[in-house]
Amino acid sequence: MNDDELSPATIAITAGRGASGRALAPALWASSTWESESLDDANRRATSIRHTDFYSRYCNPTVRSFEEAVRDLEGAEESLAFASGMGAIAATVLALCSTGSHVVAQRQLYAGTLAFLQGPCARLGIETTFVDVATPGAFAAAVQPGRTMVILAETPSNPRLELADLDELGAIKGPFTVVDSTFATPLGQRPLDHGIDVSLHSATKGLAGHNDATLGVISGDADLLADIWSYAVLHGATPSPFDALNALRGIRTLAVRTRQQNESARSIAVMLADDPAVQAVHYPGLSEHPQHDLAARQLLQYGTVLSFDVGSRDAAAAFLDRVQLCRVATSLGGPETLVCHPATSTHASLTPDEQASTGVTAGLLRLSVGLEETTDLLADIEHALRA
Ligand code: PLP
Repeated sequence: MNDDELSPATIAITAGRGASGRALAPALWASSTWESESLDDANRRATSIRHTDFYSRYCNPTVRSFEEAVRDLEGAEESLAFASGMGAIAATVLALCSTGSHVVAQRQLYAGTLAFLQGPCARLGIETTFVDVATPGAFAAAVQPGRTMVILAETPSNPRLELADLDELGAIKGPFTVVDSTFATPLGQRPLDHGIDVSLHSATKGLAGHNDATLGVISGDADLLADIWSYAVLHGATPSPFDALNALRGIRTLAVRTRQQNESARSIAVMLADDPAVQAVHYPGLSEHPQHDLAARQLLQYGTVLSFDVGSRDAAAAFLDRVQLCRVATSLGGPETLVCHPATSTHASLTPDEQASTGVTAGLLRLSVGLEETTDLLADIEHALRA
C-alpha cells in the first residue's frame, strides 16, 4: 500500500523507522560525530545537505527518523527538527528574512513568538505588521509586495483558539506562508494541503505528547527546507537525539491519544458552556464558537485545548486552588490535564493593551485536556467551579 492510501493513525505507526534497522523501537544515536574514510569522503559528508553520518548539528539518524515520521504525517516532501518550537520559529523567520524585510503576523500569537517578532526581529530591522487573525482578508491586505517575506499565522491560536482561514492564506502569492499548527497536531490539521508553504509545530506539545521532550519541527517542500537548513545549521537550535527518540515513541500513540483528548475536551466545553459561573468558553468544536463553520471546514479534530473565562483574577485563582486532578502548569498536549492562567503565565510578557486586544482577560483559564477518564475530569472541574 502507498502512504497516501493509509490513514494518519496507521502512518503514525509505520513512519520514521529508517534509522532503526529491524528493531521495533527507535535506536538512540547519541554520537555527535562520525568517522570518515578519506578526505574525499569527509568532503562529501561536509558538503552534503543533511548527511546523517557527519556531525549531529548537521543531521542525526535518530532526529532524522523523527523528521521522517512528521514528514509522512504532514504529507510533506521534507521535515526539519529544532531544539524547541521557538527554535523552529526563530530559525525559519531568520532564514527567510533580512534587514529591511517585512513580516505579516497575527496579533493573537503565543507570547514567545510575539516577543521574538517585537524584540530581536525589530532590532535586526525586520518589521512586522500585526493583523487580526479572524478578520477575512486581513493578512493579504497587509502584504507589501516585494518586501513582505513571511506571513506567520498560528491556528488554532494560543490561548483563545481563534482560527486563521488556511485556504485564504494558501492563496496569497509572494511571501512564504508559515503556519504554527501546534494546537492541532498533524492529525488535526494539514496546512500544506491548503497551499501553505511551511507547517510548524512545537513538538514539545501534543506531537511528542508526554511532557518529556522539547522540540520543534517544520515541514514543506524539499528545496525550501534545504534553504532553511543551510541557515538552521548555523543558528544551532539543534534537537537532542534523546528528545527525538521520546517524540518518536510519542507519535506511535498520537491517534489514540488525540481521539480520547478530543472527546474529553468536547464534553468539558459543553459542560462549561452551560455553567453559570463561566462567562465564555472558547472551543472551535462548539456550535456557538464564532468560527465554528471554518473549524468544521479545516480542522480534522476540534482539538485537545480549550479556554474559558471565569470573570475575574480572583475567580481564576480560586479555581486553580480547588482543582485536584487538573494540574496547574503551562504547556499542553500531554497525558496530564493542565490548567494555566495565561495573563500571569504564558502571556505575562504582554502589555495590558496587548492582553486586552488579544482577549487574554483576567478571568481567562486555558485547559489542556489529558488522558484521565472524562467523568473524573468533569467532576474535578465542576467541583472547582463551585469555589
Ligand atoms: N507555538 C505555540 C502555539 C506554543 O504554544 C508554544 C509554546 O507554548 C510555542 C510555539 C513554543 O514552543 P516551545 O516551548 O517548544 O519552544
